[in-house]
Amino acid sequence: MTDTPAKTAKAIVAAAPGGPEVLQLQEVDIPAPGPGQLLVKVAAAGVNVIETYERSGIYKTAFPYTPGSEAAGTVAALGEGVTGIAEGARVAFCEGSRTYAEYALVPAEAALPVPEGVSFEVAGAIPLQGMTAHYLVNSTLAAGPGHTVLTHAGAGGVGLILTQLLKARGARVVTTVSSDEKEALARAAGADEVLRYEGFPEKVRALTGGTGVVVVYDGVGRDTFDGSLSCLRRRGMMVLFGGASGQVPPFDLQRLNAGGSLFVTRPKLADHLLTAEERQWRPRELFDAGLAGSLDIRIGATYPLAEAARAHEDLQARRTTGKLVLVP
Ligand code: NDP
Repeated sequence: MTDTPAKTAKAIVAAAPGGPEVLQLQEVDIPAPGPGQLLVKVAAAGVNVIETYERSGIYKTAFPYTPGSEAAGTVAALGEGVTGIAEGARVAFCEGSRTYAEYALVPAEAALPVPEGVSFEVAGAIPLQGMTAHYLVNSTLAAGPGHTVLTHAGAGGVGLILTQLLKARGARVVTTVSSDEKEALARAAGADEVLRYEGFPEKVRALTGGTGVVVVYDGVGRDTFDGSLSCLRRRGMMVLFGGASGQVPPFDLQRLNAGGSLFVTRPKLADHLLTAEERQWRPRELFDAGLAGSLDIRIGATYPLAEAARAHEDLQARRTTGKLVLVP
């Protein structure tokens, strides 16, 4: 008797918007790769804040669905017309279909080759959190020597990478965290000043001799936005890149005038992966830095795929640090 290939595999499915408990493990059909697509056997799926926005209905999502924005694994099958990559190749990606699953689809052009020596867990953190930190410091505002910058959630997945990239560029990094454990991690990543959130605008003013910072990279959002704006120096830039504490309400543009000709931007990763060159440049720099030992990707916790709900609970309760990974 010959083995028949499996037709179904495990995936997390959310039937309707709700709390973490809507994330249920189910047996689903393994998708067939369409033209130009790869089927990837997932080894590590990254957990990201955006998936909590989608799961809870803050971001428009069609239910039922399988969450997930990024993963690393091996190519299991090639769709029609795919060339230049073989079954068994190690890849990471953050475009394509939902990744809280044993198998996921990805457009072949979005698959990033994972160099030998980089684990799947680490590779799973590069696409979304790594490339976000990369575009923030290279393309949104290129902070460097002589610049003091403020970041929030300095022990988070993006936060730890952001600090390391900013320090490599020569900037002085001030960051906020909510606990002693997180403070120790932020300092180990190179942060020059680590603050608690309470009263951070006054502390930042004091640390900059009253001048303020050239840029705030703010992924916390609702709870920090007003304070972040008041930390900026004249003509400084507010980079709101997420809302871990909630979305920022509508905003009076006159505040930019009163604050000293300020700039505000609300960037997203997809707009920073527009060309083949960008798609290669960002991960290549991150993988190279990781292999050279100048960038440490901290895996804060790994969870079995079946425990995706626990990963979301921990993330939303601020219990996590670094990258969270689901392992099928
Ligand atoms: P983190 O690992 O940073 O986790 C979120 C952290 O936010 C928490 O650990 C916590 O750190 C802090 N936080 C502050 N207030 C709250 C709150 N009320 N509830 C929950 N957390 C809070 O997450 P990621 O690194 O995955 O993402 C960071 C941000 O980056 C998110 O807003 C995410 O949406 C955004 N993002 C944006 C992208 C883009 O292109 N625009 C792409 C990828 C991510 P502490 O306890 O220290 O305060």
